Amino acid sequence: MSASSTEPVLAVDIGGTSLRLGLINLEGALIGDIARYDVPFASDGAADVDGILAIMAEHVERAWQIVAGELRVGVSLCGNVDLASGDAVLAPNLHWRNLPFGKLVSERFQLPVCVATDVRQAVLAEAVWGAGVNERNFAWATVGTGYGGFLFLNGRLYGGANGFAGNFGHITYDEINGHRCGCGRRGCFETFVAGPAIARAGQAAHEAGESAILSSLTNEDKVSTRAVFRAIELGDPVAARIVDDVIRLICINLGGVVNLLDIKLIVMGGGVTKAAPWLVERINNDIRAYLMTVEAQRDLQVVRESTANAALWGAAAHVFAVEGHLSGDNKLEKGLEHRVIRAN
Ligand SMILES: [Zn+2]
Repeated sequence: MSASSTEPVLAVDIGGTSLRLGLINLEGALIGDIARYDVPFASDGAADVDGILAIMAEHVERAWQIVAGELRVGVSLCGNVDLASGDAVLAPNLHWRNLPFGKLVSERFQLPVCVATDVRQAVLAEAVWGAGVNERNFAWATVGTGYGGFLFLNGRLYGGANGFAGNFGHITYDEINGHRCGCGRRGCFETFVAGPAIARAGQAAHEAGESAILSSLTNEDKVSTRAVFRAIELGDPVAARIVDDVIRLICINLGGVVNLLDIKLIVMGGGVTKAAPWLVERINNDIRAYLMTVEAQRDLQVVRESTANAALWGAAAHVFAVEGHLSGDNKLEKGLEHRVIRAN
């Protein structure tokens, strides 16, 4: 354990559309501000690794002016990540497959780095600093570009056999009438409740001439997810019905998770819950109709994430956890090798 290792960590969260960076200390406090960028994409449609590293370089440089000892980098990625290698195994929104992102970062900056899936990092942040501090069992759910989750069970992150557990957004809901999903299959819950599904339902209502309000909010004849929520604020019953259906399906899906695992807490994040904070309150209320036990109906709490971006905080918590600096139990996955990636 080096003397420098309780210094703040440069946390990086790479989402499907935006890239955020912040310097976060062992107490979970942000040093300075969060910087936000659009994820740069190359002409082949994949997220531009060099462009991302160039953005990071500027912040590594700045972090060196604040961090006295060794600077470490924690990364949160929207996709499946191999924890041991830091490789992005499959990140559909970035169009990355088997990309050794952890190795690229450690080599480029000659710094130690930890990389994991964003949903997993978000759960860790909630367990270490947030709503899950006193919980042995809880779930994380995110509604944004996708719909996904992760689990914290028996006081630890639960990744399952390959680290991919908690993909309740890819439980099939309606394979017959459903749309093609980013995972390659058809009719997953994600295709009904994530941001693009909300926009698609809004688009259909606009094209069918069902809502003058939605039609007035189009941009180049396209209805965005944000426009659907704006239409609700303007009193549009069609937009309200679209989101009522989304809330109902999320309650069915998460109600199933609660019935399966007997958990008392679900923490929710993602762009859609940021755009419409009341969505989580509605889910917290409506989900009770789908819970099997009176205990769950009485005790379950569905709450919003503790920070504006739990995945970013989790990227820092990951580094502190791997280095053994967190107080209390080690919250990391059981039976896996946890290490910091270093350049050779
Ligand atoms: Zn799917």
